[in-house]
Amino acid sequence: MRIILLGPPGAGKGTQSERIVARYGIPQLSTGDMLRAAVAAGTPVGLQAKAVMESGGLVSDAIVVGIVADRIEEADARNGFILDGFPRTVEQAKALDAMLSQKGIALDAVVEFVVDENALVGRIAKRAEETAARGQPVRKDDTPEVFKTRLDAYRTLTAPLSDYYVGTGLLQTIDGMKPVDAVTEDLVAVLNRYTATATS
Ligand code: AMP
Repeated sequence: MRIILLGPPGAGKGTQSERIVARYGIPQLSTGDMLRAAVAAGTPVGLQAKAVMESGGLVSDAIVVGIVADRIEEADARNGFILDGFPRTVEQAKALDAMLSQKGIALDAVVEFVVDENALVGRIAKRAEETAARGQPVRKDDTPEVFKTRLDAYRTLTAPLSDYYVGTGLLQTIDGMKPVDAVTEDLVAVLNRYTATATS
């Protein structure tokens, strides 16, 4: 199963991905995680991405598309993947389409988390607090100021993807404002339409 989780920052894509990887036996491919790892390792990609990420903007399509192209070649992604945080622009979506069609594979679904934007700032603040309480480093872009920039980037550059995937017939929506367990149930109900191999 090859799926995309779509939704603004703080919508719950990462949390829900983590909950379903074991169920479907496919990896979560989070471009945010991959970029943060590149920044931490100080690779050339990381050096280019660091300032943009800290300001809440989007890293260039060329960099991100390159990372994803390499990652989906890896063995664990052969039978499917959950894309979390990619694509984030229509250009990235088109590049993904080209990448997959070259490999003779296709997406099964794009699941959009519909959320009330007013609740997101609070969710991000809570994520930062919980991370700090665990003694882990808090993401530099999880501050209220940077979050606003991230939300603006979402509205301008990423939200148009809904229409793009309505056009391809792949878009499904779920209510991301429900409690975490209820969102997982709804997500699994959608995904089970696309797979006969899921375990409970
Ligand atoms: P995330 O963990 O998905 O919230 O991503 C954190 C940051 O990484 C974003 O604010 C962007 O700066 C960068 N990023 C992650 N995925 C992408 C992408 N697909 N395109 C461009 N920038 C990205």
